[in-house]
Amino acid sequence: MTDSKPQIVDNFGRPHTYLRISLTDRCNLRCFYCMPEEGIELMEKSNIMTIEEIIDLATTFRDLGVDTIRLTGGEPLVRKNFGFLIEELAKLGVTLKLTTNGIVLDKYLDLFQKIGLKKINISLDTLDKAKSIFITKRDYFQRILQNLETALEMDMEVKLNIVLIKGVNDNEINDFIELTRYKNLTIKFIEFMPFKGNKWDWDKGVSKNEILDTISNGFGIIEELKNPKHSTSSNFKVLNHVGSFAIVSTITSPFCDDCNRIRVTADGKMKNCLFANSETDLLTPLRNRDAMDDLIINAIKTKKHSRDGMDVKMEAEHYEQNRSMISIGG
Ligand code: SAM
Ligand code: SF4
Repeated sequence: MTDSKPQIVDNFGRPHTYLRISLTDRCNLRCFYCMPEEGIELMEKSNIMTIEEIIDLATTFRDLGVDTIRLTGGEPLVRKNFGFLIEELAKLGVTLKLTTNGIVLDKYLDLFQKIGLKKINISLDTLDKAKSIFITKRDYFQRILQNLETALEMDMEVKLNIVLIKGVNDNEINDFIELTRYKNLTIKFIEFMPFKGNKWDWDKGVSKNEILDTISNGFGIIEELKNPKHSTSSNFKVLNHVGSFAIVSTITSPFCDDCNRIRVTADGKMKNCLFANSETDLLTPLRNRDAMDDLIINAIKTKKHSRDGMDVKMEAEHYEQNRSMISIGG
């Protein structure tokens, strides 16, 4: 862990110590809530950060006080030379985390064990193969399940990410919770969020309160767990279950007060918030070998308090100007 003091502090006094880097906008799935039906216009390869540029940028952020880096995408594990990248990032002394759809996770688990990467979020929205094909438009369900089991056997700290959508997978809430009875994993339910072209409609969303009601009706007593600092979820467990569950309630109960997150897209744009429409180009100065520190420190000063200013409700004229989730990196 680095000892450098956080220097990326916004106008609300929030130190930003957690960086999410999207490695690519490419993906081997086509989840309908993540990208428009017609697909996205892919980034020009020449505009995507090289592996060396990602390492340089991560080092700059580390020196400004970032102590945690999560790799995401698109699908981060389809990025060429991912193994080399993660080994280099492990040398920075930060906590590394990964969000993946799990399809090719088996290729990297030994390496993760070697470098000490333990925290892995795997996206799996359903326990039903046919439904998985409907959601992702691809057939990788068995492979993801197998890789999830292997990761658990190797004592990885696994969270399962589930975007709940009414009429699609809301009837599986308690099937997921059942997994926590004997398995040491966290089930993380995520409220459906709006991004460009994903046909968001909160009538299709499932709220934190609805999720809690469903679980307490099914299992009885739910214990509320202490939320770690900067947690973006409320955390719980069913009494006597081994695993736990969490709810990311971005829509019905945002958790922005304590936000410490910065995002960088695969084409090197810094986003202060998942919902931020304005971006700061870091790739051009990086390629020009210009000094970066002041640029980053000043960029965070434009951060709004919550949801990029959509404090009260999500506004289509705002979020339709954003990128699709697949090219932000959730
Ligand atoms: N491909 C990787 C994966 O699926 O885990 C990493 C990238 S994906 C964009 C990161 C996370 O964003 C996933 O857990 C996904 O479920 C979530 N996500 C995508 N679109 C979303 C939406 N509209 N609302 C809420 N979460 C979403
Ligand atoms: Fe790909 Fe992840 Fe988006 Fe699904 S959620 S399309 S796996 S980036």
